[in-house]
Amino acid sequence: MSDNIKNKGGISVETEHIFPIIKKWLYSEKEIFLREIVSNASDAVTKLKRLISLGKVKGIDGDFKIYVKLNKNEKTLTVSDNGIGMSLDEVNKYICQIALSGALDFIKEYENEDSAQNGIIGHFGLGFYSAFMVSDTVDVITKSYTDAPAVKWVCNEAGEYEIFEDVEKANRGTDVVMHISDNEAEFLAEDKIRSILNKYCSFMPVEIYYEVEGEEKKCEHNHDGEECDCDCNKPINDVNPLWKKLPSECTDEEYKDFYNKVFTDFKEPLFHIHINADYPLNFKGILYFPKINHEYDSLEGQVKLYYNQVFVADNIKEVIPEFMLMLKGALDCPELPLNVSRSYLQNSAYVAKMSAHIVKKVADKLNSMFNTEREKYEKLWNDIKLFVEYGCIRDRKFYERVKGSLMLALSDGRYVTVDEYLEKAKEKNENTVYYATDKTVQAQYISLFAARGIEIALLDKVIDTSFMGLLESEKNIKFVRVDADIEALKGDGESFENDILANVFKTVSKNDKLSVKFEALADVKTPALLNISEEARRMDDMMKFYAANGAMEYTNIPVESTLVLNTQSPLVKKMADDADSEKTKIVAHQVYMLALLTQRQLNADELQEFLSDSFKLLEDNI
Ligand code: ADP
Repeated sequence: MSDNIKNKGGISVETEHIFPIIKKWLYSEKEIFLREIVSNASDAVTKLKRLISLGKVKGIDGDFKIYVKLNKNEKTLTVSDNGIGMSLDEVNKYICQIALSGALDFIKEYENEDSAQNGIIGHFGLGFYSAFMVSDTVDVITKSYTDAPAVKWVCNEAGEYEIFEDVEKANRGTDVVMHISDNEAEFLAEDKIRSILNKYCSFMPVEIYYEVEGEEKKCEHNHDGEECDCDCNKPINDVNPLWKKLPSECTDEEYKDFYNKVFTDFKEPLFHIHINADYPLNFKGILYFPKINHEYDSLEGQVKLYYNQVFVADNIKEVIPEFMLMLKGALDCPELPLNVSRSYLQNSAYVAKMSAHIVKKVADKLNSMFNTEREKYEKLWNDIKLFVEYGCIRDRKFYERVKGSLMLALSDGRYVTVDEYLEKAKEKNENTVYYATDKTVQAQYISLFAARGIEIALLDKVIDTSFMGLLESEKNIKFVRVDADIEALKGDGESFENDILANVFKTVSKNDKLSVKFEALADVKTPALLNISEEARRMDDMMKFYAANGAMEYTNIPVESTLVLNTQSPLVKKMADDADSEKTKIVAHQVYMLALLTQRQLNADELQEFLSDSFKLLEDNI
């Protein structure tokens, strides 16, 4: 071969350091070399197809394929395409100059950045020269679609290359042979390469076949002597991902299959949004609302970003609004520049518009479901509530768009919008939303409110506290937990004061922060209710939350509470008549404990005392 050597060269002084840098570049993401080389192969096919469609090339059949061949004995990984190919001049120009200077620019720009911190860079292209991250030597054997003779370019890891012309190569296209370095032997493992291909190349636009050389490709399935036509012989990729189709052309089944396949999640998604943004945004994608089982499950969402069907990365939070990362889906954005840094994305006007468009689309979908499929929407509410509430808290615009479709789950199982609730509340509790955080523990309060015809919202998630805060400031309303206010429970009866009885209750409660007050409630059967201030309790909840997350230590300062004694209750009336007797003291303790019980769980000591006193009372009464 040395006879037909056409050119010899070395990387110039200025560029002499490039190879060592590439070698250790982006250590954790070395696998992207394969994506770079396969996408070059795919581009080569696309270019040729374009020439054909423009009528500039004739007589070429349309059977375009890419082969990725692993040869463990030779320690090579070869990517072959039957695309446009290169002539000698083109190899010199594209590989020796353009690709190299591209790689150089890339490295110059990011050399001083911490790649771990800027993980995003690695997702975008370092280009052809990334092959040297895993190879000692790379050969490019290529034959142009024109009559130009085939060329072979061989370059070692020191950047020294030789170019040969008139080499033997029968077919049009390019083979990139990567001689894998000994210390990168993991890239000679069959499954490793398969998983890299699946990750990055699953939707590339040209069929990709993966073969392990030296091993006969056998199909394990029985085809009764017929030619095998099953998965074993199929390309590893889907050249027409669903997001490219028009939404009107996709069936529900296709959306579900796509979801199952891409996310290997066999739980059915709740619903999807197909985004098809035209010029100037020009991006497509499908976002799914996954079924969320736990409050924190959802954080595991996955939005895959593609660049012209080439996988770039999961969950790039600079591109997709943070709260959308709870969703699963695929977005293909050909307008994103290839070489990007975090700060670029953060400041990009395009990215900001794209982000806003996604938010709008998601909000539109929620509103349209609310408006046209209210029953379905209500059924879904518990599953999407966390997402919607979080979205509202994080993004004012999102809140503005969906505020009419925000639901409240009521304690009786119905769902109403916040506005519907407020409309109904006008008569008895204007601008106040009464809510419960625990349907069971707070059942007594709930039934008292229900008896007054007041609806109780169930707001039992950690996020609800922030969500209430948002609505309070946006709508000028207040949320009051059922045990925080008895205003709505008051009746028309006469009230009285009894200081002695008040003191008895203070003493038996052993809670020096307890205040006691007398009110005439509408319900005569309830002797006493405990009230704790909404603000103080929310503050306490918040401190508990931060403590649970390790952000601070929780100091258990009892939240001040008020015991409301119902002057309409015959029991309270009797106690007031005999306030300083021993019997009143015992009954007062029981009444206090029962009031505590309807508000929260008793602690161990309280429960012990309550039980033994109850037994004694029963004994005395038999
Ligand atoms: P990019 O693909 O971003 O242009 P690369 O460094 O990956 O940058 O490649 C540089 C150039 O080398 C390509 O633009 C293309 O002209 C040429 N090239 C690389 N691989 C192939 C191939 N398989 N077939 C034809 N040309 C190729």
